[in-house]
Amino acid sequence: MNDFIYKKSLGQNFLTDLNVLKRIVNSVPIEKNSLVVEIGPGSGNLTKELANVANQVLCYEIDSRLELVLDENLKDYKNVEVIFEDFLKSDIKEDLKNFNYDNLYLVANLPYYITTPIIEKVINSKLNFKYITVMVQKEVGERFNAKPGMREYNSLTVYLNYYFDIKREFIVSRNSFTPKPNVDSMVISLIKKEKLLYLKSEEHFDNLIRDAFRFKRKNIRNNLKNYDLEKIENILKKYNYDLTVRAEDLSLEIFVDISNSLS
Ligand code: SAM
Repeated sequence: MNDFIYKKSLGQNFLTDLNVLKRIVNSVPIEKNSLVVEIGPGSGNLTKELANVANQVLCYEIDSRLELVLDENLKDYKNVEVIFEDFLKSDIKEDLKNFNYDNLYLVANLPYYITTPIIEKVINSKLNFKYITVMVQKEVGERFNAKPGMREYNSLTVYLNYYFDIKREFIVSRNSFTPKPNVDSMVISLIKKEKLLYLKSEEHFDNLIRDAFRFKRKNIRNNLKNYDLEKIENILKKYNYDLTVRAEDLSLEIFVDISNSLS
């Protein structure tokens, strides 16, 4: 790795602190016959720790310059497979058909420039990930974990909270990486909810929350002016709100209720 030129454009900040690597792996209650998917193994630091506790590990790495390094670093780990491909272009459902597993997890130190598209892709795949434990930029982690009324609460928060219980694991200092990034990081777990709230249409719900938060300073009446405002007002009344409320004050349950009344 000595002459490796790190690509900032690929979010290449490698985690070099063994304690942190072990803490990430220990955050995930990996059960028997497990398959862990890792996005962006880099030089394989986290991969090795995962391979020590999981039955199988499947990695996606976009940068084929890392092939020799990974071959060397992972040569003693027969339970790891690396696909050299852009994860966002991969057919993960098809790839997973080659594996036999009972418990599926995603663990990764994510490339920060595509955090949201990766998470959206994983959710949309409808694969049964029990735990998604990822390192993200600290500010992004705060957003995932925000509660109504907080500055960080936005459409992504509501979207994630529909599918998962969100658990803030711990903060990681920028000094734990090579090269050192400009931001601190957070490890956060998205834990699959046993029972989802009933939704008539996930697509309608997605569009509704996106539109409700479109302009941060505008209220529901303005952001949702193309929706049936009378019906929305009736739902809001149940919760002691009116159309002047802002999306950032409304809980997941209220958005679900509104979406079901409109779709
Ligand atoms: N897992 C390593 C670690 O913890 O030290 C490296 C993590 S580094 C933050 C992100 C990794 O994601 C890099 O290896 C980078 O090349 C890879 N990557 C970036 N974009 C990717 C993509 N679209 N698909 C798959 N891997 C990607």
